[in-house]
Amino acid sequence: MQISNRIQHVAESGSLKMAARAKEMQAQGIDIISLTLGEPDFAAPDNVKKAAIDAVAADWSHYGPVPGYPSLRQAIVHYLPQSAGFDADDIVVSAGAKQSLYNSVMCVMNAGDEAIIPTPSWVSYGEMVKLADGVPVIIPTKPENGWKLTTDQLEQHITDRTRLIILCSPNNPTGSVYNRRELDALVDVLRRHPNIVVLSDEIYQKILYVDEYVSMAEYTDILDRTVIINGVSKAYAMTGYRIGWLASKNKELVKAVKKLQGQSTTCACTVAQRAAEEGYIGNQACVELMRIEYAHRKEMIMKLLGDIPHIRCTEPQGAFYVFPDVSDYYPALGRWMKAHGVEAEIGSAAMTEYLLTEAHVACVSGADFGEDRCIRLSYATSRENIREAIRRIREALILLTK
Ligand code: PLP
Repeated sequence: MQISNRIQHVAESGSLKMAARAKEMQAQGIDIISLTLGEPDFAAPDNVKKAAIDAVAADWSHYGPVPGYPSLRQAIVHYLPQSAGFDADDIVVSAGAKQSLYNSVMCVMNAGDEAIIPTPSWVSYGEMVKLADGVPVIIPTKPENGWKLTTDQLEQHITDRTRLIILCSPNNPTGSVYNRRELDALVDVLRRHPNIVVLSDEIYQKILYVDEYVSMAEYTDILDRTVIINGVSKAYAMTGYRIGWLASKNKELVKAVKKLQGQSTTCACTVAQRAAEEGYIGNQACVELMRIEYAHRKEMIMKLLGDIPHIRCTEPQGAFYVFPDVSDYYPALGRWMKAHGVEAEIGSAAMTEYLLTEAHVACVSGADFGEDRCIRLSYATSRENIREAIRRIREALILLTK
């Protein structure tokens, strides 16, 4: 069958591909530790599960309103910074933050419009922009700047065609978090460019290791062109429930997104919406308990990585990933590949392949996020798995240099 050019040009998700390979090898009886996971390893909280079961029992089995149930949207309004003054009509609930991002990109981009994407970044942003016939404008950030976009970089990349900027804080894969001073400076630049829509992906907001979280929703003077993206996947360990949302003060955008969603998926799963609402209004202790466990694991993995020679790793300020630079090992990896007849480009993809086959640890190549010097390790797994996985990685890397 002929597959459309549009889809043929879309890249597959690298992390999903690697996770699937790890599962395949596990099914063959190989003891693989997977650090590929982009989702919490915790189960959804009990009150959320009960709400879902109750919704099934009470026959929440019909179509719901396109933007989501009003009571859920009201709960989301309380979740957002109160200074922003959102109301329920500013919220559209979708099947995950991913769909909210996709809806937003589709509703603001015209063919040839440019979208600024600082990298390393989650791979789907660029692919969504391409699906909307837009042009991703990639700006590589540097570890010495904490993997954050600088105002100079932003100014240099704005053109007459710039329509969108996609920011993600805490960031996947680097864990970087923009502080108030850094966001103030970026917003100062954006104020001078009123045509640029700001898409702020705040899905890891609750998994934070710094004292303050600054949401783009706090910049009320540009709120008419800001879209906040969030959801229950990461904070409440509810990835499979598929509930995410956008908040926007721009009535035209909200109307457009509702039109797109009305013609594509109608509404998010009604049972999952009831569960998500319980997540938001129920006891929040579970969110903090999970955050504390991630914080312990982050300390642990940073310390273990610190014991591996020639690895550099910026300390994450949020999310549940580390993004170490392993490029000092590439020359040795190249020699190993030559000796073993492996024909591939030397870089992060070859490194993840080597670690999978030799160390039996699955992780995701940095190239998938736009930074070939690094690999992404998720610590959304048990402390025991982390300890053993890093031990194996250390051994395999040291072996390369022997
Ligand atoms: N944004 C980022 C940065 C992510 O890492 C992910 C999931 O991995 C998402 C959005 C999608 O979240 P959801 O499960 O709500 O679609």
